[in-house]
Amino acid sequence: MMSIKNKVIIIMGASSGIGAATTNLLAEKGAKLIIAARRLERLEALKLSSPDAEISVKQADVTDFEQVQAVIDFAKQKYGKIDVLYNNAGIMPTAPLSEGRRDEWQRMLNINIMGVLNGIAATLPIMKQQQSGHIIVTDSVAGHHVLPGAAVYSGTKFAIRAIMDGLRQEEAENNIKTTMISPGSTGTELFNTINNQTEKKNAEDFFKEIDGLQPEQIATAVAYAVDTSDNMSVSDILIRPTKQS
Ligand code: NDP
Repeated sequence: MMSIKNKVIIIMGASSGIGAATTNLLAEKGAKLIIAARRLERLEALKLSSPDAEISVKQADVTDFEQVQAVIDFAKQKYGKIDVLYNNAGIMPTAPLSEGRRDEWQRMLNINIMGVLNGIAATLPIMKQQQSGHIIVTDSVAGHHVLPGAAVYSGTKFAIRAIMDGLRQEEAENNIKTTMISPGSTGTELFNTINNQTEKKNAEDFFKEIDGLQPEQIATAVAYAVDTSDNMSVSDILIRPTKQS
C-alpha cells in the first residue's frame, strides 16, 4: 500500500479555492503534484508557498483537449505513471432559465462537463495500462438536488455524477478508483463567476447565514479518498455546512 507520499497527483483547476487548498494539503503530505489552470501567476504563487514540495505548474484550459493532454503527457513523461487525476475545475454562473443566458450555459457545459471528460479521455489509457489509478471530481450538493436559479449548474453536476458512476463500473475490473466529492456552500472565488447580481448576493448571504465551509475542509476529504489502500475505493463523499439543510 502506498499512502499520499510520493503519489503522482494531477489537479486540474488548482489556482484558487478547493483546488489550491488541496494542492497545499497534498504537498504537505509529500505528494508529487502537477497543478494546472488558466491563471499561471496564481499557480506559480501556490508553488512558491510550498518551497519544499515537488510541484510542477502547467497552464491549461480544461475545455481544450490538446492542453489537457499536454498536462497528462508531461506527468507521465516526468514520473512514468499517474496515480491520481483530480478534475476540479468548474464555474457556477447561476441565473433563472428565463434570462436565456445561452453563453453561460455553453461555458458551464464546456468546463464542468467537457473539462471532466477531457481529463478522463487523456488519462484513462494510461491508467488502464498501469492497471491502477484514481480519478476524482468535484461534484456538488447541487449534483444531488436542484434549486431555482441553479438548473443548468445542477444539470452539469448531475451529468458528471452519471459519467463518474459509469466510469466506476466500466473500470472496476482495471483496478481504477473513482471518487465524487460533493461540497455544500464553500467560501471560494466561485461566487465571482455569477454575473446575475441578485444571484451572487443570495449565494454570498446564504454562505454567511449558514456558516459555510472553507476550502481547506474540502481538501481533507480529497486527502481521505486518496489515502486509501489499494482495495478500498471511496466512491462518494457529500459534505454540507452543518446549518445547510
Ligand atoms: P474557484 O473559482 O476558487 O476555483 C475554480 C477553479 O477552476 C480555479 O482554479 C479555476 O482556475 C478553474 N477553472 C475554471 N475554468 C477553467 C478552465 N476553463 N480551465 C481550467 N481551469 C479552470 O471555486 P471552487 O474552488 O469553489 O471550485 C472548485 C470546484 O468546486 C468547482 O467544480 C465547483 O463547481 C465545485 N463546488 C464548489 C462549491 C462552492 O460552494 N464553492 C460547492 C460545490 C462544488 P482558472 O480560472 O485559473 O482557470
